[in-house]
Amino acid sequence: MRWGLVGASHIAATRMIAAFRATGGEVVSVLSSDAGRAAAYAAEHGIARGVSDLDSLLADAEVDAVYISTTNEKHHAQAMAAIAAGKHVLCEKPLAMTVADAVEMVRAAERAGLVFATNHHLRNAGSHIAIRQAVAEGRIGEVLSARVFHAVYLPPVLQGWRLDNPAAGGGIIPDIVVHDADTVRFHLGEDPAEVVAMAGQSGLGKGVEDSCMSVWTMPSGVMVQTHESFTHAHAATGFELHGTEGSIVARNVMTQNPVGEVILRRSGEETALPFSDHDLYARAVTLFGEAVAGRGRPSADGVDGVKSLAVAEAVAEAARTGRRVAVDYGGI
Ligand code: NDP
Repeated sequence: MRWGLVGASHIAATRMIAAFRATGGEVVSVLSSDAGRAAAYAAEHGIARGVSDLDSLLADAEVDAVYISTTNEKHHAQAMAAIAAGKHVLCEKPLAMTVADAVEMVRAAERAGLVFATNHHLRNAGSHIAIRQAVAEGRIGEVLSARVFHAVYLPPVLQGWRLDNPAAGGGIIPDIVVHDADTVRFHLGEDPAEVVAMAGQSGLGKGVEDSCMSVWTMPSGVMVQTHESFTHAHAATGFELHGTEGSIVARNVMTQNPVGEVILRRSGEETALPFSDHDLYARAVTLFGEAVAGRGRPSADGVDGVKSLAVAEAVAEAARTGRRVAVDYGGI
């Protein structure tokens, strides 16, 4: 797979370029809106071409697929152009600024017969795969509730548009609630129905929320509690599932790294569940490549991206209005 990077981003530099190369792919071109930055980024990362207009990247016959990691407000137009140019798309979350735009992207890729995936990394983690397997095997019985602890401290290098630019998709809800929605859907195999939420600023956000707590109901009756923040330096992350026969308590698993611990608690006894320590992003890229080759589906496809965004939109509306909000999945 020969990749074009739409966005000279931090996530591409720190995770994705390595993931593309580790899985046998090549990175042949990178787009930045600034020609100088495109050239510098290309040189720094050993990429053959640095371009400053999307059309030239998309006209490049050596680009088979694009990875979109610009700021969030650009994803929709760039994905639509890439699909029109016949490129497969791996798009960062949130897919778009609205569910309607995200649905349009997914439908366009379907019509064009192209693979479209969302870069939700957490469902690729060995820890989460182990949790899902334990639940599927009935080791905690019938699931009653889930708790998601995803309050972190935003690293200084990322303290830009996420904290002060709602027009670029800043704020904890588009940034982190989408990941939590995807992870909960992955484990429970159903989509949140209704949400209540509160959001606010706790020290870093300027013009956008930097912290959020919400409660979601699932169609089965399972209740989900989530906490996301950019300002918690010492909280550590976690994911818990509680069932009629046991609980799963996972620590330090809402992360980009293949780390953490997964404990199964039953009848007062605790057992650590083993899990693979493979790279999360490399697995996502591998499954994307398999899907392009006609084998299987990406780990998180376009519909997954629409649904995680729909939950985040509902959480944002619930926090804004103080009302209980039904999640609108945009007909997908
Ligand atoms: P960055 O802020 O690093 O990059 C976004 C855009 O900002 C780039 O396309 C670039 O645009 C501009 N930019 C970046 N660095 C500089 C700089 N030094 N000087 C000037 N402009 C710069 O974004 P992130 O990597 O943090 O996030 C990109 C996307 O990826 C977002 O959608 C985010 O939600 C997602 N993401 C996903 C993660 C995951 O694990 N799935 C993790 C992190 C992010 P230009 O060159 O055109 O100016």
